[in-house]
Amino acid sequence: MNLARAHVLVGVDDEARLAGVEEVLAALREAVADFSLSTEVQVVETGSLGVSGHGVVVAVQPDGVYYAGVTARDARSIAEEHLLKGRPVRRLLLPTTAPAARPADVLTRQKRVVLSNCGVIDPEKIEEYIATGGYEALGRAVTEMTPDAVIDAVKRSGLRGRGGAGFPTGIKWSAVRTASDPERYVVCNADEGEPGTFKDRLILEGDPHKLIEAMAITGYAVGAHVGIIYIRGEYQLSIARTERAIRDAESLGILGERVFDTDFSFRVEVRPGAGAYVCGEETALLESLEGKRGWPRIKPPYPVTCGLWAKPTVVNNVETLANVPDIVRLGPAWYRTLGTPTCPGTKVYTILGNIRYPGLVEVEMGTPLRVLVHELGGGLFPGRTLKGILVGGAAGAFLAPTELDVRLDFDSLAERAAALGSGAVLVMDESACMVDMLSSVLRFFRHESCGQCAPCRSGTDVLVRLIANLQTATADRRTLDQMVQIVDAMRAASLCPLGQSVALPVRTAFAAFRDEFTAHLAEHRCPQCQATARAHGLHA
Ligand code: SF4
Repeated sequence: MNLARAHVLVGVDDEARLAGVEEVLAALREAVADFSLSTEVQVVETGSLGVSGHGVVVAVQPDGVYYAGVTARDARSIAEEHLLKGRPVRRLLLPTTAPAARPADVLTRQKRVVLSNCGVIDPEKIEEYIATGGYEALGRAVTEMTPDAVIDAVKRSGLRGRGGAGFPTGIKWSAVRTASDPERYVVCNADEGEPGTFKDRLILEGDPHKLIEAMAITGYAVGAHVGIIYIRGEYQLSIARTERAIRDAESLGILGERVFDTDFSFRVEVRPGAGAYVCGEETALLESLEGKRGWPRIKPPYPVTCGLWAKPTVVNNVETLANVPDIVRLGPAWYRTLGTPTCPGTKVYTILGNIRYPGLVEVEMGTPLRVLVHELGGGLFPGRTLKGILVGGAAGAFLAPTELDVRLDFDSLAERAAALGSGAVLVMDESACMVDMLSSVLRFFRHESCGQCAPCRSGTDVLVRLIANLQTATADRRTLDQMVQIVDAMRAASLCPLGQSVALPVRTAFAAFRDEFTAHLAEHRCPQCQATARAHGLHA
């Protein structure tokens, strides 16, 4: 039993590592020992605490105090002032100017299912995962439930894929389960490549066992014995922690041969991707796994019947799978108490941009966008006004401030021709030039187009040229209409979602910020941003 009076939780993710978290950890442990606090204070290395953009973040629990930008030199102050004398070190407190949105509130006013262990347990200690109820669902599934009963539970939960399309997970599993070929695979898509999206990385860094447990449950349900995690190659910490988690689970008989001493065997492998955004498309990912160029396949056939090595394959992303253990453990009825009737459960978002608390949050499906921006994100900086929000990542929708009350779930956003997409929420204040923003999105798509089909290969290139004309005051009056015609053609004729999805940011940017695009076009000026106008050589 852990009898520590206080826990000093140190968020160790890729951002913190760049900021020197290893030195901070060592200095904190040394300081705790120097002040003879070792028996009552435990320094714990954990995953992301949900706050980004502030270097090393440290939480002291149960006090609910969050320190940001902590360096090794601050360790003694935290030990002496806070842990010994009970006075928080004010100069290190996570910056806030809004009494209604204190950092501790930001982190506790969420509904954490997927992130329940992130920032709480040491992700490199399997016993800490087990102590939270980890691997209980897998044990129950393989010893007490039939595969069909597991699929039925997932179907009844209403879980929908969090990769963007929102397809019912149980139906996908069912298709693989009933496929005639007995050789089947489970593939986890952890190839997170969308700008501003880093939730899968932080889930893997903070709680890798949850994904491994979910994959084993999936394998049992669909009759697969091999699971592969295709993970973005740059995610070094995620890879290291996931591989360690696999080894630890195997050593306890939870993974590998005869899981929980049953006839079910399941092994998990990690395969790093080479960094192509298009490999986040499920069939391009499968091509890449087979050692080929990551080009999307023509569908149908779909992976559920013809996936990896032409075998039936479940492809789910990290967040989708991370919901599965709690659905099995706590039941589909519990899961349906969260979210909306048609979109049960929670959703993980990365909030970033001109906002006080950029980071990772999890809330119930159907939560208004306003809550993310003004409560969990802490609102904009003092004196700044909200200009727009890009919801869903680069392939998402530009929304005006009047849309702040839109509810964030698959169906509510679809009604407004928007989408949850990657879960990135980019907040922009009045300094943002929307032509610049859209140009950045289009250049991203041109760079990442795999070039296999002409509508996307040529379309993204022409779009970048047209918007550059807008920025340099050389566009003619037909430019905006031409761009709409191009994205509509791409949506209709592109082979994969990458080309098809360009229409959403273009159309929504034109709809929400028409005046700004028109001013660039007709008046050769940037009405909002004089600095941008000068940078473009335009006449303000
Ligand atoms: Fe490649 Fe774009 Fe065609 Fe997709 S739409 S296959 S990314 S060229």
